[in-house]
Amino acid sequence: MTFSACCTHCETEALSDAAQLSDAEVARMRNHLRACVPSLATDRLRELGALLHHFQVTTTTTPERGAARGELATAAALGATA
Ligand SMILES: [Zn+2]
Repeated sequence: MTFSACCTHCETEALSDAAQLSDAEVARMRNHLRACVPSLATDRLRELGALLHHFQVTTTTTPERGAARGELATAAALGATA
C-alpha cells in the first residue's frame, strides 16, 4: 500500500506513492504547506492531525509481489498441467 497526499489548497500532490508516512514524508508535507500557505501558523502544523487536515491523503493498494507471485504460480500450474 502506498500513500499519496494532495494539498487541499493548491491541489498539488505533495506526496506521491510513498511507501509509508514516516518523518521524512511528514516533513515534506509540512514543508510544502509552509511554502504553499505561509500564513498558516507552523506550530499548529506540528501535530500530524492538524497537518493532515490540509491534505487529502489517499492510499493505493498496488498489485505488488503478491499478485505477481499469484500470476506466476498460476502460470506455473498451467505449465505443469499443459
Ligand atoms: Zn499546496
